[in-house]
Amino acid sequence: MTGLWARPDGALAEQWARVRAKLRTEFGDAAFNSWLKPLTLAEVSDGRIRVAVPTRFMRDWIETNYAARLAELWRDENSDFGSVEVIVAPARTSIHQAGSPPPQARQIEVEAEATPAPAVQAPVEAIDAPSGLTSVLDPRFTFENFIVGRPNELAHAAARRVAESSEVPFNPLFLYGGVGLGKTHLMHAIAWHIYRRNPDRRVMYLSAEQFMYQFIRALRFKTTMDFKEQFRSVDVLMIDDIQFIAGKDSTQEEFFHTFNALVDQSCQIIISADKSPNDLEGMEERLRSRLGWGLVADIHPTDYELRLGILQAKAEQLGLDSQPKVLEFLAHRITSNVRELEGALNRIVAHSSLVGRAVNLDTTQEVLQDLLRANDRKVTIEEIQKKVAEHFNIRFADMHSARRARAVARPRQVAMYLSKQLTSRSLPEIGRKFGGRDHTTVMHAVRKIDELRATDSSFNEDVELLKRMLET
Ligand code: ADP
Ligand code: MG
Repeated sequence: MTGLWARPDGALAEQWARVRAKLRTEFGDAAFNSWLKPLTLAEVSDGRIRVAVPTRFMRDWIETNYAARLAELWRDENSDFGSVEVIVAPARTSIHQAGSPPPQARQIEVEAEATPAPAVQAPVEAIDAPSGLTSVLDPRFTFENFIVGRPNELAHAAARRVAESSEVPFNPLFLYGGVGLGKTHLMHAIAWHIYRRNPDRRVMYLSAEQFMYQFIRALRFKTTMDFKEQFRSVDVLMIDDIQFIAGKDSTQEEFFHTFNALVDQSCQIIISADKSPNDLEGMEERLRSRLGWGLVADIHPTDYELRLGILQAKAEQLGLDSQPKVLEFLAHRITSNVRELEGALNRIVAHSSLVGRAVNLDTTQEVLQDLLRANDRKVTIEEIQKKVAEHFNIRFADMHSARRARAVARPRQVAMYLSKQLTSRSLPEIGRKFGGRDHTTVMHAVRKIDELRATDSSFNEDVELLKRMLET
């Protein structure tokens, strides 16, 4: 056996990273994030590569849609490999060759993750700007496709204002927020809007990484004059993910000069970052303060309403046939960011097209096992009480009160029942949390709810939904 772990450090990891990068380019970000990103390199032995996925459904899907191409890409990288096998392994457990635990296994995942993403799918060429300097715009990232909710309304309004006015309303517009919350989407939307309404305005969009890359190249080839010249005729300049140049002093210096020169010639500047100007570490003080001179708009993490709105819009676009409860469930359970929401939805759409029927809660859970686990947290009795009270529209205080009216007693019983099911608390402990009730009261509640679930199917569905929303 010629175990590949014996090869020089990192060779395999690099090959895997290249294979992944190619898959991403070929199939696009959306497909990559939904299906291919979760793949891990599991085992390598004579002529065969094994990649692992978290669920059976994903294995089937990848085998049908991507495995052939995956095998070809591997063969291009390394002619030692004739075949690729897709296996199911729970997330975070790495499998490896029997008898020789490879220290590289972890490294492979890390390095693969760090591979920079190539251009997005279906690139539309950069808009009327010096060639080579601009990035591509994603055709889906328009204002029409951007769902507005409380967490992003300020950023959205500011972006609209900048896109719609021919003057410079504030300079710069600084958008910041966590990953996957729509910063890049808003910037592309501004660019699209201006491009469509006013094609004479010259818009340049690039990531801070590209800015730095261009600058360093200019230094190396002694073409810094050309580099500067390129910005001369720009009306709107957007730099995405400015935090990238933190700690890169000469790039910052150059950026600062470019920035000031452009402001002087009334060019609109739009910057995005993962933090507010003040919190950007490794950034020169004068640059930080300059970045905060215009309008600083933050995008907050999504709330339930926004997530549901986004899901409904995308489900409609995708023609997804699902029960409304499925979308509600997703909005409750996938709280990390919009990108993950999209990934979840893509998988569900694929599943429904595969099995040819509407998606229900069961299949959703099965198909999204790994994503749901990643969004999981331990549930407490207080959270159960809160959620149940909300659901039945009663006051949280009634979970502890002595009121016996059916309208509050029943939800209270449901909460007791779920506390028994979803936490490891004992009956007396649960009783205490419900206004010091006796353990026999809790026992009675559990029995009563079990009984109702068996006889009343709509009640049963309600409880099931609550349970899934709370489940760890
Ligand atoms: P960021 O640049 O902040 O990391 P992106 O702009 O790349 O995030 O957004 C990640 C994904 O989520 C994109 O596919 C984007 O279209 C989508 N998205 C984010 N916010 C919204 C929103 N409010 N409405 C519709 N789609 C959104
Ligand atoms: Mg972005």
